[in-house]
Amino acid sequence: MTEKLCNPDAMVIHDNIARVRERIENACARVGRDSKDVTLLAVTKTVSVERINLAIADGIREIGENRVQEFLSKQEALLPVTAHLIGHLQTNKAAQIAHRVAMVQSVDSLRVAQALNTAAVKHGVTLDILAQVNIGGEESKSGVEPDEAAEFCAALSEFSALKLRGMMTIPPISDTEYKKREYFSRMSQLFIDIRTKNVDNSSMDILSMGMSDDYEEAILEGSTMVRVGSAIFGRRNYQ
Ligand SMILES: *Cc1c(COP(=O)(O)O)cnc(C)c1O
Repeated sequence: MTEKLCNPDAMVIHDNIARVRERIENACARVGRDSKDVTLLAVTKTVSVERINLAIADGIREIGENRVQEFLSKQEALLPVTAHLIGHLQTNKAAQIAHRVAMVQSVDSLRVAQALNTAAVKHGVTLDILAQVNIGGEESKSGVEPDEAAEFCAALSEFSALKLRGMMTIPPISDTEYKKREYFSRMSQLFIDIRTKNVDNSSMDILSMGMSDDYEEAILEGSTMVRVGSAIFGRRNYQ
């Protein structure tokens, strides 16, 4: 403990996590939600193993990585933690990741789902997945279009080794609370509609939305998992 207190990096990460947790609490309180129903996922792309481990030692239980190669290079040195893949996945990388993470949040095509399923079957595991939806319909973003989401989710629930747990989105960047909430609200409505329609998908319990700049707005609109990177680890250095 004393060693931790003397490490300035550990103190900054500790303070950042405490601040994020407090804001999650406050956002939940604003809309009468229990903060236990919101999971904080620490996004660790570009962050060193040493700094990720400081966060885990500080109570972070779930992390999200974007790239397969980067994650695999770090995984062995990490303290025990539940790992999610949150970045766009290429079909040819699916075999390397299906048995090494607890969840893939970025499933955006049936081809990727098929590849993950094949790999999961081969390794005798069941893999939790989220369907990624491009709620703003932006050219630059991955995910299925909102009006294709219901059909996509129905198709995903057919794979024997995949378990569809819900949906993930990255909305367009908005500058006001009102605009941010509008996209999250749309996504929330879509999530509820699809969950209600697909009785077979009764295990759909995760709505992953909200990042450092908008996780509070996402929580106000029903997010159950926020993916926070820079608000915990500081600005990313991509070199
Ligand atoms: C990088 C990333 C995040 C975290 O972004 P911050 O703004 O640093 O919190 C969340 N989700 C996805 C899919 C990401 O790629």
